[in-house]
Amino acid sequence: MKLPIIVLPLLPSTWAYTTLSNSTLVSSSISSPRDSSISHLDPASLLSRILIPRVPGTPGHASVQSHLVEFARTKLHGDWVVEWHNSTSKTPATGDKEVPFQNLVLRRDPPWVSARAKEDRGDTGRLVLAAHYDSLYKPEGFVGAVDSAVPCAMLMEVLRGVDEGLTRMWEKEGTENGGNDGLDPEKGVMVLLLDGEEAWVSWGEDDSLYGSRALAETWENTKYENGNHFDGPLQAISLFVLLDLLGAAGPTVPSYFEKTHWAYENMARIEQRMRGLGVLETKPKTPFLYEAEKQEWFQRGYIQDDHVPFMRRGVDILHIIPTPFPGVWHTMDDDAAHLDVSTIRDWTRIVTAFVAEWMDLEGYMPENEAKGDGGNEAESRYPEKDEL
Ligand SMILES: [Zn+2]
Repeated sequence: MKLPIIVLPLLPSTWAYTTLSNSTLVSSSISSPRDSSISHLDPASLLSRILIPRVPGTPGHASVQSHLVEFARTKLHGDWVVEWHNSTSKTPATGDKEVPFQNLVLRRDPPWVSARAKEDRGDTGRLVLAAHYDSLYKPEGFVGAVDSAVPCAMLMEVLRGVDEGLTRMWEKEGTENGGNDGLDPEKGVMVLLLDGEEAWVSWGEDDSLYGSRALAETWENTKYENGNHFDGPLQAISLFVLLDLLGAAGPTVPSYFEKTHWAYENMARIEQRMRGLGVLETKPKTPFLYEAEKQEWFQRGYIQDDHVPFMRRGVDILHIIPTPFPGVWHTMDDDAAHLDVSTIRDWTRIVTAFVAEWMDLEGYMPENEAKGDGGNEAESRYPEKDEL
């Protein structure tokens, strides 16, 4: 069934969005994500550390939490605020026990905002990038590689990829202008590593999205005191980009929402330009983001995922999830052996460039120092493990 096209107002133009130059796409750090973060072939990588069963409330889950925080502490050098958002809930699988769900929130705002107040006062609109780090309760031993260990590792590498560029840009702006005059909202970056996305027994309103439901509700009820530009953290989300089921070869991701198709187009153009410049490794017949030219909008259901509690509260969503889902979805085959490292690297390049454009980092991105894995920091190496 085809429905009439609803014409939505164009997006407010207050957001500068600066296209990256060819040379930045080719020769900045964007082109060389570090295998030490995102490659399942490196047993010491962050991704390998996440690729274990991590059901909320279990030791594996706690171990993954500590690796994520350690990465943020040791690999990110900017002034990132790292916080946990905690909630508990019963689940249909665990009886009367309250299971803890803990979302990890990382954000970085301009230093003059941070200096004014460690408290968030509503000066900064944020690009939010999200993925879930919990894994399915059953089947036992499920490690959820595309679902969603890879997106989590990718997002941490994306933050590392833009970290130095943000520092350089804000240092220059702070020196030249003393920061912003407060008339326009600032721009910041936030990553949400969400907990409890998976259903424990069967998917439903009350058995799924435990972490994101709790977080969206908390933020809805949080109001900034004397909010300068935004009333609360929900309104301060400029765009909510949710990554899920990424890491398998040959993904095809449609544009799901007409309202945010402009953002999809921006990301798809990055992919097209990077393919043209030879920056990407994969050579798919169909691009990952193949609907840049989409003109007709058909009514269709959206995929139930962590964006829903935010979307229902009016947040704009860009959902980066393949249709069809990877064939390994929710099977024991969703493991390291079924990942494609070239696809993971290419997604990381695309998303890093998208964030760099959003944050206007043209001219500030560091040079690509080393081809391939620039992440051979000896101090970051864990003892080698044999089992991989
Ligand atoms: Zn899942």
